[in-house]
Amino acid sequence: MTKRVLVLIVEDNEANQLLASAVLELEGFEVRIAGSGPEALDVLRDCVPDLILMDVQLPGQDGLTLTRLIKSDPATSAIPVVALTAHAMTGDRELALAAGCAAYISKPIDTRTFGVQVRQFLSAAVDGDRRAVAQ
Ligand code: MN
Repeated sequence: MTKRVLVLIVEDNEANQLLASAVLELEGFEVRIAGSGPEALDVLRDCVPDLILMDVQLPGQDGLTLTRLIKSDPATSAIPVVALTAHAMTGDRELALAAGCAAYISKPIDTRTFGVQVRQFLSAAVDGDRRAVAQ
């Protein structure tokens, strides 16, 4: 049996949690949900997801601060993080990339394309690993 792909969704809005997890479960992914930074760190002590979808705006510790923390810890630094941002402003995208996010998805998510987007990020991350190994 092959291991199912595990995606961690860090998102405080319940409707967004349900929508994103429903789409990803239909795609065949295993999904964990964290509603805050501390909850996400709890999940990361427990498992290593293949991808983290990170809401930028979280109560308390914001998503970019959390991303920097994840990227500075050798145990989690290799996990690709994709920002979920309600801000379509270029500056916010740049901030997300500067914090260590591999990419971003604009919210509200488009349920018709979200699963495909996530698959693309996953295969890009695998290709990135292959390049790193080849070098
Ligand atoms: Mn939020």
